[in-house]
Amino acid sequence: MRYISTRGAAPVLDFEQVTLAGLASDGGLYVPEHWPTLNTDQIAALRGLSYVDTAVAVMTPFIGDTMSSADLRTLCVQAYGRFSHAAVTPLVQLDQQHWLLELFHGPTLAFKDVALQLVGLLFERFLTGSTQQLTVIGATSGDTGSAAIDALAGRAGVDVFMLHPKGRVSDVQRRQMTTVLAPNVHNIALEGASFDDAQALVKAMFNDSSFSTRFTLSAVNSINWARLMAQIVYYFYAAVRLGAPERPVAFSVPTGNFGDVFAGYVAAKMGLPVARLVVATNVNDILHRAISDGDYSQGTVVPTPSPSMDIQVSSNFERLLFDLGGRDGAAMATQMRGFEASRAMQLTNTQRDGAARLFDSARVDGNEMALAMRWAQAEAGQIIDPHTAIGLAAARRLDLGDTPVVTLATAHPSKFGDAVERATGIRPALPSRIGNLFDRTERYTTLPATFDAVTSFIAARATARS
Ligand SMILES: *Cc1c(COP(=O)(O)O)cnc(C)c1O
Repeated sequence: MRYISTRGAAPVLDFEQVTLAGLASDGGLYVPEHWPTLNTDQIAALRGLSYVDTAVAVMTPFIGDTMSSADLRTLCVQAYGRFSHAAVTPLVQLDQQHWLLELFHGPTLAFKDVALQLVGLLFERFLTGSTQQLTVIGATSGDTGSAAIDALAGRAGVDVFMLHPKGRVSDVQRRQMTTVLAPNVHNIALEGASFDDAQALVKAMFNDSSFSTRFTLSAVNSINWARLMAQIVYYFYAAVRLGAPERPVAFSVPTGNFGDVFAGYVAAKMGLPVARLVVATNVNDILHRAISDGDYSQGTVVPTPSPSMDIQVSSNFERLLFDLGGRDGAAMATQMRGFEASRAMQLTNTQRDGAARLFDSARVDGNEMALAMRWAQAEAGQIIDPHTAIGLAAARRLDLGDTPVVTLATAHPSKFGDAVERATGIRPALPSRIGNLFDRTERYTTLPATFDAVTSFIAARATARS
C-alpha cells in the first residue's frame, strides 16, 4: 500500500515510512492511496475470531510488503497481551438496543492504548538496526500523552516530548505522564494554554524547516496513520459480534480530533455495513456545526469535564474532507490555507452531502452528559466516564428502528473520578493495574506556550540528525 498526502504535494510513502512520519511535508496528512475492501464472505469469516486475529485480517491490506502477516501477528499478540480483558475490547449490553464497546482495558485506561501499544512496537521494529534517533513530539489533552509515554518509555531510538496544557488535564492523566521517569520521556506543561494551542505549536514545529530538518521528527497524535489503522479493527470486531455483515450496526463516537470516528469511516469504506456514525461533541462543537451546517469555524475552547474532547480544530477532519471532495490535493490545500488564514471555512456541497450519507452529529452539554451517566447506572448498573456519557447521550437521540447502536467507551471512569462522582455519587476506584500512582514522584517542566521556549527546550535535549 502507498500513502499520499491530503494536500497532494508531498512524497508518496510506504507503510514503514508513513508510520515513522509526522505531518506530510506539504502540511497535509497521509492517507492510503485507495481503500482496501473486505467482501461479505471475508467479513463473515471474522466471526468468532480473537481480537488479535481480527486485527491481522483488518490491518494486513494496509501494511503491504513492509512486514509479513506473521510478524504483524507477533506484534499484535504482544500489544494486546497487555490488556486486562481477554476480549481486549469487550461489548457490554445496556438495553435492547444500546451497547458499550469498552476500549479502556489497556495500561493507561483510555482507548488511545489500543493503537499506541501497537505503534510503539512498530516504531521499535522499524528503528531496530537503524542509526536514526527519532524525536517524537506530541500535544495531548491527557490521554494520548499517557498512552504514548507508556508505549515508548525506555525504548531505544526514540525520545518523547509531550506537551500538555497546564492545569487542563485530570490529576490521573497528568500523573500517568509525569511519574514515568524514563530518561527518554520529557513532559512539558504549557502555561496558560489550551490543547489547541499545544497542537498548533506541534504543527508549527513540523512546518518550520529550520527546526524540523535538524531532527528526525515523528508524531503520535492521530495525524499518525498507523494509529488510525489500529482503530479500524474494533469497529469490525464489534459489528460482526452484533450480526454484521448481514445486519448493519451504528456507532456513536465521543469525538475530539476526529481520529477515532475517522477509523469508523474507513471501516465503512472497507465494506463494513455501518448504519450511521454519530460524531458526539461536548460544547466545543465545531464538528457538530460542520456536519450539521457545513460551518467549520473555530470557536474558543471551553474547559469541560471531558477534557480529551475540548478541541476546536480537529486535525483528522481534513482526511474526511479530502476523501469526500474527490481526493483533489490542490483543492484541499487551497481550502485548508483559507481555514488557516481566517480560522473558518464552509464545507463544499459535495463534502456536506457526502458526510450526510453516513454521519450524524450531536452537541451534548454538561447536564445531558450527567443524565446519560445516571441513565447507564440505573438501566444497566454501568458507571461510565464523561466522554463515554457524551457518546451515549448522542446515541440515545438517534431513531434507528431496531439497529444496534454501539457507543465507544473511550476511557475508564476512574480516570475522571471527580466528574463521575459529581454526576452519580459514586467514586470509581482506580484498577489495581495502575498501582500507586498517587505516591510516585512527578517530573515535568513548565514552559510558556511559545514556539521559541518549546523549540529551545527540545533542541537542547533531542538528538540531531547525523
Ligand atoms: C482522545 C479521546 C477522545 C477523542 O478521540 P479523537 O480520536 O481525538 O476524536 C474521546 N474520549 C477520550 C477518553 C479520549 O482520550
